[in-house]
Amino acid sequence: MLNFARCSGSRPVGCRYFSLLRDKNFIGGEWVAASSGKTFQVTNPVNDKVIGIAQDSTPEDAEKAIKVASGSFNMWADLPAKEKGIKLKSLLKLVNSHSDDLAKLITAECGKPLAEAKAEVMYSAGYLEWYAEEAKRIYGEVLAPPNNTRELVVLKEPIGVVGFITPWNFPLAMLVRKAAAALAAGCVCVARPAEDTPFSALALAALVEKAGFPAGTFNVVTSSRSQAGPIGQALCASPQVAGISFTGSTAVGKILYQQCANTVKRLGLELGGNASYIIFPTADLSRAVQGVMGSKFRNAGQACVATNRVLVHESVFDKFSSMLATAVKTQLVSGDGFDPAVNQGPLINEQQFQKVDGIVKDAVSKGARVVSGGGIHPTLKGRFYQPTVLSNITEDMKIYNEEIFGPICPLYKFYSEDEAVTIANSTRRGLANYFYSNDYAQVWRVAKRLESGMVGVNEGLISAAEAPFGGVKESGFGREGSRHGVDDYVHTKYVCFGGLQN
Ligand code: NAP
Repeated sequence: MLNFARCSGSRPVGCRYFSLLRDKNFIGGEWVAASSGKTFQVTNPVNDKVIGIAQDSTPEDAEKAIKVASGSFNMWADLPAKEKGIKLKSLLKLVNSHSDDLAKLITAECGKPLAEAKAEVMYSAGYLEWYAEEAKRIYGEVLAPPNNTRELVVLKEPIGVVGFITPWNFPLAMLVRKAAAALAAGCVCVARPAEDTPFSALALAALVEKAGFPAGTFNVVTSSRSQAGPIGQALCASPQVAGISFTGSTAVGKILYQQCANTVKRLGLELGGNASYIIFPTADLSRAVQGVMGSKFRNAGQACVATNRVLVHESVFDKFSSMLATAVKTQLVSGDGFDPAVNQGPLINEQQFQKVDGIVKDAVSKGARVVSGGGIHPTLKGRFYQPTVLSNITEDMKIYNEEIFGPICPLYKFYSEDEAVTIANSTRRGLANYFYSNDYAQVWRVAKRLESGMVGVNEGLISAAEAPFGGVKESGFGREGSRHGVDDYVHTKYVCFGGLQN
């Protein structure tokens, strides 16, 4: 039972398509309750009001979903690529025609401003469009044989059932990014979304059903946080699951990596980042400030590719920090994401809120200077943290080493290119880095030296369906988006045709 009239205080959200609101698991094309009979409440992070209930599933439910997915695999895998593409295009059409309602759902359960939620829906649609087209382009190879008695062929075959575990910060996009590539490749899937945001995944399932995907190809099993570990374990342990694709923290990614060893599964890990944002002396400071505003404060800093450390050359440090402080004070408005004036929502949950507050308090207690903000929002109730800029950061502070995942922007002064690159690379994370420079030689040099899967040059928002998204080091492996995004979902099979010449 869902009560969207209450999901934004007393104002109704006004979803037109109530068919998108689902409170059951989607298994084998049917909407079913958890076998435990238990449910859990999902709340709006703006005001903690209950927006609906979802099924508190257990490994038993995940195993049911794995079984039906497994049963549907051959039929989906054997469907001609063109037809898989047509199904994905139907889903794309439905996502586009329900974009307002999907966006409202995202804002209601994860708190991000409605404009950002709409951008997330469009971003998700971009992956559906890309993989609807890419389904036809998953090519094998014909190789030059060593002699004339053979022909050598390489086939790309779908790996089978894949398990998806997704986070709350982009509850639709993180699932679509995986599912679109997997379905295009011919795989079938079982998804377990985060406790905080199950409804976006269920809404996607409702559209998958409407698009006419065969039963069992796409399944969603929701649960409370207490069952996240056991369900994850069931997915990793099952010999019927060929691969796991996970987006989330490095800590959980490492657990899943270990759990997948026993069955030697294919694994895609999109883990946490620690992005540096370097401003060199030749940078266009106005553009660099706007770049940080997007990269740092989008979704109140709760993004894996969010800028974590801003490194500013000493020659432009004072000017840049003053420009940034002005932008933060004048451009950012905190509040309920359904208010069109708001561009900063709350932090997702109490745990995240305490973590961010702890990081700021630790930095300030060790000598950090508050340039702007610096604490809990003075007037808004709930988990709103003031957009904050800090300087005088030192290596012994938590903020130097940890992924902040909140609207906190620490500024560091550097004196040479070498020093900046060394600082940026002095982390076990390697998801994204950004830098601003108009020195042509420096641009190429630094782009090559930065140890991350993605680099933004004079650009703060770089993710797109056309490009490979993913990390190096402890930010994981595997890529989502682009033609590389199907690699996690296909086996390479070599077939040797012999005896061709008598
Ligand atoms: P998290 O704690 O790792 O949770 C991610 C998902 O894993 C959630 O669905 C969570 O469920 C589930 N989970 C938790 N413990 C599990 C376990 N033992 N076994 C199986 N599943 C488990 O991450 P988070 O803090 O919610 O999300 C933020 C993190 O995700 C950040 O580090 C961020 O950088 C990263 N992220 C990375 C990318 C990328 O593409 N690289 C994109 C977005 C986010 P519950 O939420 O119900 O506990």
